[in-house]
Amino acid sequence: MAGEARALTVLLIEDNLEEAELIRLMLTQSRRETLRVEHVTRLHDGLKRLGDGPVDIVLLDFSLPDSTGLASFERTREVAPNVPIVILTNLDDEEIALRAVREGAQDYLVKRQVDNELLLRSIRYAIERMHNERALWESEERYTLAVNGAHDGLWDWNLKAGTAYFSPRWKAMLGYREDEIGTDIDEWFSRVHPDDSVALHNALEGHFTREEPHFEHEHRMRCKDASTIWALSRGLAVRDQAGRPTRIAGSLTDISVAKRTQEQLLHDALYDALTQLPNRTLFLDHLGLSVDQARRRKNSMVALLFMDLDRFKNINDSLGHSVGDELLVELARRLTHFLRPGDTVARLGGDEFAVLLNDVHGVGDATRIAERIQELIREKMVIGGREVFTCASIGVALSSPGYKRPEEILRDADIAMYRAKAAGRGSYQVFDQTMHRNAVALLKLETELRRAVELKQFVMHYQPIVSLEKGRIVGFEGLVRWRHPERGLVNPERFIAVAEETGLIVPLGWWVMRQACRHAREWQQLLPSQPPLYVSVNVSGKVVMQPDMFDRVTAILEETGLPATSLRLEITENVIMDHGDIALGKLAQFHDLGVQFSVDDFGTGYSSLSYLQRFSYDTLKIDRSFISGMESKGDASAIVQTIVALGNMLKINVVAEGVETSMQFKRLREIGCSHAQGFWFSRPVDRAATQALLLHPPVW
Ligand code: C2E
Ligand code: MG
Ligand code: MG
Repeated sequence: MAGEARALTVLLIEDNLEEAELIRLMLTQSRRETLRVEHVTRLHDGLKRLGDGPVDIVLLDFSLPDSTGLASFERTREVAPNVPIVILTNLDDEEIALRAVREGAQDYLVKRQVDNELLLRSIRYAIERMHNERALWESEERYTLAVNGAHDGLWDWNLKAGTAYFSPRWKAMLGYREDEIGTDIDEWFSRVHPDDSVALHNALEGHFTREEPHFEHEHRMRCKDASTIWALSRGLAVRDQAGRPTRIAGSLTDISVAKRTQEQLLHDALYDALTQLPNRTLFLDHLGLSVDQARRRKNSMVALLFMDLDRFKNINDSLGHSVGDELLVELARRLTHFLRPGDTVARLGGDEFAVLLNDVHGVGDATRIAERIQELIREKMVIGGREVFTCASIGVALSSPGYKRPEEILRDADIAMYRAKAAGRGSYQVFDQTMHRNAVALLKLETELRRAVELKQFVMHYQPIVSLEKGRIVGFEGLVRWRHPERGLVNPERFIAVAEETGLIVPLGWWVMRQACRHAREWQQLLPSQPPLYVSVNVSGKVVMQPDMFDRVTAILEETGLPATSLRLEITENVIMDHGDIALGKLAQFHDLGVQFSVDDFGTGYSSLSYLQRFSYDTLKIDRSFISGMESKGDASAIVQTIVALGNMLKINVVAEGVETSMQFKRLREIGCSHAQGFWFSRPVDRAATQALLLHPPVW
């Protein structure tokens, strides 16, 4: 270190050459610093030298030929206010030297009583002290500037006396007048928020012990009107020779606004803006803590309830988003009110909520609460003067040592919730491991299906649609099969739902339509008939919602040469109900083209007769559950009869699906049903077998 240190310039103003030489000798003994001594014998020369360039310290003799005593000190300080001055004096002048120190000289040394160690130490301290004072002065200067600009308050604490100066601004920031706050340092500390007090004292201590170069701390302060502000206190200590702090001065800034913004940001990051409930992030955090705690306690578990409102989308769509929002807020209120203080309820997004129950002793505890919550949700809500009802599906998962991360419990509760959804509205399910296996299998299916769509591992089968009046085939329904490399032909029931969920139904749907149109055109050319054979294709709601649906269908018709009148689109009731007028508007375009429409699985979904009227369907396909029930249950037969009558009235064709027996066939004919489809006529068969059916048509 010594090598790096800059040489310090000592200006020695001493007329006695002998003394001067002695001092120079002593100074060159220093092993710590390199001291370069410049010697002059008159004050005049000394002052001139100070004007010429930097000097680190002045050693000033008090009896010079051109000046003596205090006057020498004052003139020197005037020329070089920032250079420390150490007075050299004789025994009899000690009194004056002391006065000089009071005036600002750093030290005085009595000549002849000085040894080299004392001299060097005095020089060192003088330089350091000057440096500190300078720093404080500079920082005070800065603070003064800052005060004017930023309205900071100032404080200056004398550590020895325990007294302090607080600037008028400092007091005003806390709502006090100048004369209302005294000079005790406790005027500050007693107003610090109790929660922040320890940290504040630690911060001060850290600076006093030099761990921190500056004191800087954020803490709350109580104001006169009992309100609280956030304050930033900053300061710098002044130290004595031994390095002990004697004084500390600094500023107080009101950072309440910034702090509130920061708190708001933090709040926004962790809470749901609509319901003010914790969000997913905070919930997972709580869950993690609870699981850790439960692990340490015996016989204690954590239960997680994952709930999703049933048909919330319907409420949003039919009553508007503001009603939907209010419903969520009301629900949040009910849940918060119902739960124990230690439990957490969070909104994970959309209409998904999660409840964390601590200290649960078994599944029974959790399901009891799930039931209570369901009752709570089912209770009528009045929103905007309107009665709204809803219910929720709940998945329950309990903590177990197998869980490594909180996300895993949430995932399993989610899986159980899906199970509850599938089981019907307003029910709950407790997670078990088979659910997990199913979920994994589903994921596998999804991956395989993605690949299958890429590789076109599909094949079309066709099932004839028979005219009951003529007893002949009038068209076919195209039904897709997955030619799975290991599992063979897979029926759509196994994969259509997943294809819908993943959106894969869209590329698959286009492939199906192209194939069906191409094949139908081939058969028409092979066997011209009057009227021409048609093909009926199942269309998913996702496909209906494609913005380019119309263009794509017309392109396929053009490409395959199939007349538009030979294409029939099968749509389930729910597609129309879910997408409403948008779907109707889009489908109307097809009508103009000559494409026809069938309502598939009629009678099973949520249908509205008004839609039947507003949108001109060509065909209703009675779901096969009604046909299979015809023989045993009288109701089913009545329903079929009613649908047929309805069709006749609205001039809509009716196709009975799933005809399996001759009895059903006869009954349908008696009722006056125009068309039928089912295993009794033919199972869905591949393209070659379809062609064979056409070449040798059976007659019923
Ligand atoms: P869907 O449109 O109602 O098709 C009729 C289903 O009933 C077919 O099942 C057919 O094989 C079956 N079926 C016909 N007659 C009988 C019968 O007498 N008894 C019984 N038990 N079943 C009969 P499949 O082929 O398994 O198709 C199931 C569902 O998958 C279809 O129901 C349809 O919703 C969907 N699907 C099939 N192909 C496609 C497609 O290309 N696109 C879309 N989006 N969905 C498709
Ligand atoms: Mg169908
Ligand atoms: Mg059907």
